[in-house]
Amino acid sequence: LWQKLSEQFRENTTDLTYDTWIKPVTPISFDGSTLTLSLPSELHRDYWKEQLAPNLIEYAFVITKGNIEPKFILDSDVKKEETELESEPTDDANEPEPDEEFSFSKETHLNPNYTFDNFIIGKGNQMAHAAALIVSEEPGKLYNPLFFYGGVGLGKTHLMQAIGNKRLEDHPETNVKYVTSEAFTNDFINAIQTNRTEEFRREYRNVDILMVDDIQFFAQKEGTQEEFFHTFNDLYNNDKQIVLTSDRVPQEIPKLQERLVSRFAWGLPVDITPPDLETRIAILKNKAKLDNLVIPNDTLAYIAGQIDSNVRELEGALSRVQAYSKLKNEPITTDLVYEALRGLKLTKTSRELSIVDIQNKVASYFHVSITDLKGKKRMKSIVVPRQIAMYLSREMTNNSLPKIGKEFGGKDHTTVIHACDKISEIIKIDIDIRKEIADIKSELN
Ligand code: ADP
Ligand code: MG
Repeated sequence: LWQKLSEQFRENTTDLTYDTWIKPVTPISFDGSTLTLSLPSELHRDYWKEQLAPNLIEYAFVITKGNIEPKFILDSDVKKEETELESEPTDDANEPEPDEEFSFSKETHLNPNYTFDNFIIGKGNQMAHAAALIVSEEPGKLYNPLFFYGGVGLGKTHLMQAIGNKRLEDHPETNVKYVTSEAFTNDFINAIQTNRTEEFRREYRNVDILMVDDIQFFAQKEGTQEEFFHTFNDLYNNDKQIVLTSDRVPQEIPKLQERLVSRFAWGLPVDITPPDLETRIAILKNKAKLDNLVIPNDTLAYIAGQIDSNVRELEGALSRVQAYSKLKNEPITTDLVYEALRGLKLTKTSRELSIVDIQNKVASYFHVSITDLKGKKRMKSIVVPRQIAMYLSREMTNNSLPKIGKEFGGKDHTTVIHACDKISEIIKIDIDIRKEIADIKSELN
């Protein structure tokens, strides 16, 4: 078992993590439920308990289809045990503590403001809106699963919850469950740890509409994906509605199982794109009305012209303007907005960053040529800057993965995914690279 588990870790972590934490482990015993591992130091033990245990349990669940309970002991204890014949290592501190407070994300925490009434329809979200409405009227019938994808702050969560809110208004008996993918993951891991997978299943499969928000966070989470796959099938086969959102198409989610990717495409995948100027003005107008703000039309248009991609930022700008007007005790005019938003302008320019800007900056920062950055050389001194440039292109621009690949000498989008994964992993552990990336970012801004 340990061999299989360590292979999983090797596949899913960086070499550095693997060498530091996984390699020094000595498997001691496995009795079908308790897996005892021996570690060289207390530091290792703490790290395993706090950081790696959930992964261990998850991987073991995939491999054995059962719940294991990890037990971590120290190499020094094992030696002691060997000399003190037969004496049981009674290291109670190593037992995972049962989490008394724990309960599943039971409530349907729907934001009551996220309604269809408060949602402004525009070109970028028309289709998503229509599909959402149909699904709220006839869940489980036409579009299953309904899958929204698009950038942050474009209204995915709002629309998803509008389905739930409307359904509950029209049919209060409906069992609606909304969770973020992180909540799903946490519930699942906690369920395994507390031997409550049955309860978990009852909780998640006994619903009429299951909404899971931001499923891109299922990336890399093998065990959770496995469980979600079964949840999905169960609901689907019983004609229960599933609604999902993600910031990208399923194919672009790293390490998302192929069978999930294909299932997500069974129903209706709809993208939501940034609102055009008209829509942004309409959204601001609606928001101003809700907040009882008096703002002249040309001032609204001015704000909408300043923030061009993200509704959340648009709302943020309006709050800022509102606060500013209160502070100065002046009515909201275009002049006042100009002053209030001066600091925010940066966000807009950074949105317009191009891949070429990023390539230029990264190339000069690391003293590599643009040709090498886009080329195929495998030297570390070039590969790392190349991966950083891809990573930043993904993070700081709205370009799709295939587009980014193309701009890097016609590489495949999987290469870009790999680069992004790699850098995301590295910045978790390598302070120098993290700092370099922060430097480059601030220079780009
Ligand atoms: P996402 O989940 O896509 O990141 P959200 O649904 O959280 O985005 O939306 C961000 C904010 O913008 C929310 O406050 C939401 O109410 C608002 N919003 C987004 N799109 C619209 C829209 N078309 N009309 C009104 N408000 C919107
Ligand atoms: Mg959201």
